[in-house]
Amino acid sequence: SPVPFDIAAAIRTIPDHPSPGILFRDITTLLGDARAFRRTVDELVQPWAGAKIDKVAGIEARGFIVGGAVAHQLSAGFVPIRKKGKLPWKTVSTTYALEYGTDQIEMHIDAIAPGERVLLVDDLIATGGTAEAAVKLLREMGAVVEAACFIIDLPALGGADKLRALGVPIRTLVSFE
Ligand code: IMP
Repeated sequence: SPVPFDIAAAIRTIPDHPSPGILFRDITTLLGDARAFRRTVDELVQPWAGAKIDKVAGIEARGFIVGGAVAHQLSAGFVPIRKKGKLPWKTVSTTYALEYGTDQIEMHIDAIAPGERVLLVDDLIATGGTAEAAVKLLREMGAVVEAACFIIDLPALGGADKLRALGVPIRTLVSFE
């Protein structure tokens, strides 16, 4: 579908954050714009309107905001995927590579029942490392990862291709080269 211009226009770009040379795409301006936020959620869920999605899994922290709204819209449950050490109950975790070093994400061991159909949500996909780790974790729990959706794609970094190679269909609304 065509790029929804009002959604793209509601995203703020901050040069040199968090470090020199990085263009940070800031969705807080979009979240604060009632029309843009609603439109974003409506556009994200559109392929799954009426589909049977059991759970929406959101990646900390902006994936919680978008994922919570998406879960409500699809009448699905919500599962938080968090950084290491934040979840209070027993967890499963996976380690993934960053540009420098590694990071770890976790979910509760009882968050997903085998065979449940899950939609993965985050604000932005860059290299796809975070989303790939989330897909791994969800599949270890027996989830059927139906698709992944993101407001923003940075196609030059290859994340969308990485997810497609894992057999996960992907929906994104705005691409920044
Ligand atoms: P990836 O693992 O390289 O795909 O990076 C994606 C993760 O980093 C997501 O959880 C994003 O929220 C975060 N991220 C990377 N760049 C940006 C940005 O410019 N704006 C907001 N989040 C970003």
